[in-house]
Amino acid sequence: MKLILSFIKKHFGFIAVSGFYLTLFLLLYVIASHNYLLFHVSVEMFTVIVAASIFMFAWNTRKISQNDYFLFLSIAYLFVGGIVFLHTLVYKGVNIIPGFNANLPTQLWIAGRYLLAFSLLISPFFIGKKLKKAVIFILYLVIFTLIVASTFYWKNFPISYVEGVGLTSFKIVSEYIISFLFLISIVILIRVKDKFDKEVFRYLIISLILNIFSELLFTLYVSVYDLFNMLGHLAQFFSYYFIYKAIVAIGLTQPYNLLFLELKELGKRKDDFLSIASHEFKTPVTSIKAYSQILKQQFSKTGDIKKTDFADQISRQADKIADFIDNFMDINKIESGKLIINLSEFDYDDLVLQTISDCQHTSAKHKVLLRGKTGVILKGDRNRIGQVLTNLIVNGIKYCPNGGKIIVNLRKDKHLIITSVRDFGIGIEKNKKSQIFTKYYRTKEGEKNAQGLGLGLYIAREIIKLHSGKIWVESEKNKGTIFYFSLPIE
Ligand code: ADP
Repeated sequence: MKLILSFIKKHFGFIAVSGFYLTLFLLLYVIASHNYLLFHVSVEMFTVIVAASIFMFAWNTRKISQNDYFLFLSIAYLFVGGIVFLHTLVYKGVNIIPGFNANLPTQLWIAGRYLLAFSLLISPFFIGKKLKKAVIFILYLVIFTLIVASTFYWKNFPISYVEGVGLTSFKIVSEYIISFLFLISIVILIRVKDKFDKEVFRYLIISLILNIFSELLFTLYVSVYDLFNMLGHLAQFFSYYFIYKAIVAIGLTQPYNLLFLELKELGKRKDDFLSIASHEFKTPVTSIKAYSQILKQQFSKTGDIKKTDFADQISRQADKIADFIDNFMDINKIESGKLIINLSEFDYDDLVLQTISDCQHTSAKHKVLLRGKTGVILKGDRNRIGQVLTNLIVNGIKYCPNGGKIIVNLRKDKHLIITSVRDFGIGIEKNKKSQIFTKYYRTKEGEKNAQGLGLGLYIAREIIKLHSGKIWVESEKNKGTIFYFSLPIE
């Protein structure tokens, strides 16, 4: 059922989404055709509410956000929203502030649009920067006051609408200029696309395109109650809706994407650091290992058993550190998508025999047995597949603390070879089986019985995946475990 629902959501979700937008569009259209004033007030009030919400959201999250782009935009939207509010109050027929004709709301509209267009144009400049909030706020307050003074009191703002005639050329040319400014904003945004979460970026662009639409439609109306005016307002409605989606909705529901985008960058730096640090550690450890082996050989020649044992201990500990570093380097590679396999043709059974012999040396209590053979010359990464097998055998040894048999079984089918590693140790609980392949995961029993990082199986799964194979497990608590992996034969 869950599967069916997710399938419908994935493939037919767009119908529901488009249905939602269409219904909203039709609803507004019906309102507009019955009562234009109600439509106008609704759309403009929606705009004002969105502007205020954006501001409140960005303002209240300013401390956790390292990126003041949205804060800048929110201050701009707040004041543009203020102008839209005044525009609504003086709109023809509203009569809340009487004594003005349709010119004043048009002037306020165009002033608000200029302010919005310029703000959007310069906003990318604030990406990743810290803002002098008070300065920006006061600057916008001054601009807002000047616009109000120029339209309401000084009355020196260019005439935008003449009753009975329609729009003035100032208004029409302005709409083109504003559209052009929106267009440049789109181009600039596309150039800094990487700085945004994908979805946020998409909504910002849609909002800008709708802004352009709304501008162009507003060059066409003759009456402030006609069809073009209505369509212009509809485009404006949706443009604000998408800004709201980009900043508030996504910011609240997916805060990681928006507020912590910087974390991704930090994560990348951490990966780079780990990669360099691992290499730096690896070099001295390799030397320690090499020298300890030379010492071991020399001591054993002179027959000094104690010193030979010391040198051997050093060599084993160096191995442990090297393993540890290798695991981290692998994780780092997987995470940055840089884990690659070096393909060559090799005798699979030979690799298995050699790996078993290497692992056998690590424990005297266990007996690693081989059953079956494949006779396959495999094309794959010999070292990496050896690493997977080693990990499974060593796990078998680690998680059978009392010793016993570890059985490696080989089987060849028509198109693949299946290798299994069976132990008779502590086993894994049923509900934990799917988790053991995740990074850093260790079962409670596993932690009690042996040391580990919980990385081996995660890396093994990635390596097998890169070979287009599969890895899985069967297990019963206290009875034992069988790990399987399959590899396709070319
Ligand atoms: P590590 O062994 O270093 O912890 P792995 O990724 O190899 O990391 O294994 C993850 C976890 O899966 C182990 O911590 C252990 O809890 C469990 N596990 C793996 N192999 C076995 C096994 N053969 N028997 C029982 N538990 C196992």
